[in-house]
Amino acid sequence: MKTLERYTLSDANELYGISNWAGGYFRIGKKGLLEATPTLSKHGVALTDIIDDVLARDESLPLIIRFPQILEHRVELLYEVFGAAIKEYNYPGKYQGVLPIKVNQRRVVVETLAEAGKPLKYGLEAGSKAELALCLAQDMHPEALLCCNGFKDDGFVRLALWARKLGRNVVITLEKFSELERVLRIAKEVGVKPAIGARFKLHARGSGQWEESGGDQAKFGLNATELLSVVNRLKAAKLEDALVMLHCHVGSQLTDIRRVKVAVREAAQTYAELRELGIPIQYLNVGGGLAVDYDGSKTTFYASANYTAQQYAADVVYSVLETCKEAELPLEAYPTIVTESGRAVTAHHAVLVLPVLDVTGPTRFPGPLQAGHPDQNQLITDMEQILESITLKNYSELYSDAVDDKAQMHSLYDLGYLSLTDRARGEELYNRIAEKVLETIKAANPKHVPDDLEDLPALLADKYICNFSLFQSLPDHWAIDALFPIAPLSRLNERPTRRGTIVDITCDSDGKMEKFIDLRDVQSTLPLHELNNQPYYLGVFLMGAYQDVLGSAHNLFGKVNEVHVTVDDDGDYKLDLFVRGQKARRMIEGMGYSAPKLSAAVRDEVEAAIQKGLIGIAEGDTFLEHYDEELVGYTYLE
Ligand SMILES: *Cc1c(COP(=O)(O)O)cnc(C)c1O
Repeated sequence: MKTLERYTLSDANELYGISNWAGGYFRIGKKGLLEATPTLSKHGVALTDIIDDVLARDESLPLIIRFPQILEHRVELLYEVFGAAIKEYNYPGKYQGVLPIKVNQRRVVVETLAEAGKPLKYGLEAGSKAELALCLAQDMHPEALLCCNGFKDDGFVRLALWARKLGRNVVITLEKFSELERVLRIAKEVGVKPAIGARFKLHARGSGQWEESGGDQAKFGLNATELLSVVNRLKAAKLEDALVMLHCHVGSQLTDIRRVKVAVREAAQTYAELRELGIPIQYLNVGGGLAVDYDGSKTTFYASANYTAQQYAADVVYSVLETCKEAELPLEAYPTIVTESGRAVTAHHAVLVLPVLDVTGPTRFPGPLQAGHPDQNQLITDMEQILESITLKNYSELYSDAVDDKAQMHSLYDLGYLSLTDRARGEELYNRIAEKVLETIKAANPKHVPDDLEDLPALLADKYICNFSLFQSLPDHWAIDALFPIAPLSRLNERPTRRGTIVDITCDSDGKMEKFIDLRDVQSTLPLHELNNQPYYLGVFLMGAYQDVLGSAHNLFGKVNEVHVTVDDDGDYKLDLFVRGQKARRMIEGMGYSAPKLSAAVRDEVEAAIQKGLIGIAEGDTFLEHYDEELVGYTYLE
């Protein structure tokens, strides 16, 4: 056996790719603990310290840890990179961001970003009436944009126009042509001049998973004919100055910067055309799509992106500048560039903590291989011999023999020719053979598994059972294969000796994770530690965008507990707020039941059981007390 070299923190950093995806907000600390550095200062806070604090307050896991300071830093970063690009290229216009709140409508997210963004004129974007109602209550800079996207009815438009009348910089984006008449009609009724944005269907497309959001078949936006009709209609009403914004959005998580440039050019060209037509338009909104490098590979893979925020800003500003120059726009006509980055602003701030409850797996044998019994089936004896004979020279042949033996064993069992005892031994032998084959291959070449045995590592992987619901906490992993970086929160100074997949506690076999980030590919297992008698937690990172608000109540597992943490320059931290997750009662009532009626029904049943003499009165009381306690309890395992 090869002697193992010392395992260092930098090995762990490489293994989990931490510095590739962490954006500087997370790192491995000296004791092998995963630390957060939300202000990028030199002192970090161990996530396990935060967890211990929460547990000491008698609260339960799973838990989301939020760092509002990361949100603040993200919005500042956005303005910093656009500011730098504007300076570098001498762009004569300005930059203004808006947060599309659909990415995460949680109070801490919206309020933190609105407050941090106020001096920057950072705005908000609402895609529904409810979102607009929420945005209108935020304290924003008077020049900050409040963009209203999405399909609209009279109520939506009226709310937006009243807010305009109150002095808010509200822009109503037309998603389809017929919305224009609605806006003009209600503007008259309310007595205010509307500020209108036109969403234009670019023929350019993004790249990555949301490619379909752009192009001619896009769900939203006006085509060229419709855009011209808007111009003509507004001119006829002598309202050409009401069209203030050209808007486009070619999709989320744009992986390829070249596609971004092409789309921005087309948008800027259209802006210049509108100027040519005599429209004094002023904002060019290039939408969202600034990507998050979830796997840290810096590639055009769907979980990554081949550019940084700084490169994005530089390319957007440069493309607009060049297009305006070529169109010979006067300097004062150059647009204020607007972006609607949601994912890139919110993803980093939240970490989901998964407590590992238990581990199961095909190579979890109870002790060493026991001796066989004398009259066991010959097939079992053959398998014993295979196990003993495996070498680097013959593993391939012997493994395929073992596969055949296993199949034959199951046929014999079905026909009644093999006992349950023999079957159990045969299955154990097969798993031991597979494990030994894998060890043999890895000892020869740790980095490569032959193609025909490619499935072996996944087949032999342990299942780490974690206290969470995939459907509540990470629905995008289930629905669209989104990848999130995952790492143990402790023992990062210790070589992980196992490989595992993650399973949740729902009664749904889809509630599992078998795809993990990798620099070159996607891994089917995650390197993990053998459990000892200490708690073992996994952190799921970059889950603050979309995930956080899309969750569903499968098996009635509700929203998880949350804690908000701020860290000062000395590395001292404060638990600002603890937000309790949903209680069983809330989940049950969400399905149309009334909790008091459920209690009453159970009470009747208990009384009937007492009458029949099945239980005593005191026992009945104990049970009812327990029942009522569970109704107000956390939905996860405690
Ligand atoms: C969803 C959406 C966004 C946000 O996209 P991100 O990829 O999160 O930046 C921006 N604008 C519009 C119109 C959207 O629908």
